Amino acid sequence: KKQEWAKLVNEPTTTKDEKHVELAANIGTPEDVKGVLENGGEGVGLYRTEFLYMGRNELPTEEEQFNSYKEVLEKMEGKPVVIRTLDIGGDKELPYLNLPKEMNPFLGFRAIRLCLEETEIFRTQLRALLRASVYGNLKVMFPMIATVGEFRQAKEMLLSVKEELIREGVEVSEDIEVGMMVEIPATAAMADVFAKEVDFFSVGTNDLIQYTMAADRMNQKVSYLYQPYNPAILRLVKMVIDAAHKEGKWAGMCGEMAGDQIAIPILLGLGLDEFSMSATSILPARSQMTKLSKEEISSHIDHILSLATNEEVIAYVTEHFATEE
Ligand code: PEP
Ligand code: MG
Repeated sequence: KKQEWAKLVNEPTTTKDEKHVELAANIGTPEDVKGVLENGGEGVGLYRTEFLYMGRNELPTEEEQFNSYKEVLEKMEGKPVVIRTLDIGGDKELPYLNLPKEMNPFLGFRAIRLCLEETEIFRTQLRALLRASVYGNLKVMFPMIATVGEFRQAKEMLLSVKEELIREGVEVSEDIEVGMMVEIPATAAMADVFAKEVDFFSVGTNDLIQYTMAADRMNQKVSYLYQPYNPAILRLVKMVIDAAHKEGKWAGMCGEMAGDQIAIPILLGLGLDEFSMSATSILPARSQMTKLSKEEISSHIDHILSLATNEEVIAYVTEHFATEE
């Protein structure tokens, strides 16, 4: 298997019926780029920038951030790099911000909610991102968007920072895509409206599943509700992909589900454009996809979405489509 996979490192990702999709990687630091390239990643689909802010006593400076973003963009040599703005809160804490303790951190003051209020923190990051934009193919992504208003506010701030930099004589790329994560069911429900304003979506299934099923996946008592293949989740994912395509935009996925052998056939059939996963999952995923026909799977999608349970979906996929393991 390993040898079979190794042959695919420099190959594009093509299904049995010659359809191309993009296989990208999730990273947390510039050092992770090496593994992405060694495993044949066609891009970075999620750079989790919060690691720059964690495990230290103060906020990273604009210069520190600029250097990290530039390094990733340069090492990826023009391949797409989706950098997500600060996604702190939930289980990721920054003690030095002295935020009040919350009863439900995952339903609280986190990610974009914090950035839209702590605007100095957000503007510093946006300045670093925009300054780095000329060193590669940058796409900016906002986390935990719940409302169209939040997306507009975040994008406006990005544009205002861009104008500020241009006034200072700093060069900024003219074609930066601006997109958002779909991690909250409300956003999936409104995907058709969002699709008119974003350049792309990336579905964050780690959070989307927990919010849709109302079950904390860290809580053993309810972890049985963490069901990636539950048709409730699949239907939401379909809404997002269809909404994106209707407006000529692309849809990716950067939650764990994107690299999952049971999910991959379904996601191909739903028309997902970009799959972002841990680097080590890329070659197995590419290998699996060469054995799958997108066209053929599409004809099963209506049936799969009409199934009743997570288990029924697993059984159906295992019976009808190739997996690597
Ligand atoms: C997600 O929610 O699926 C996601 C990719 O974000 P994170 O895992 O960083 O919360
Ligand atoms: Mg998330």
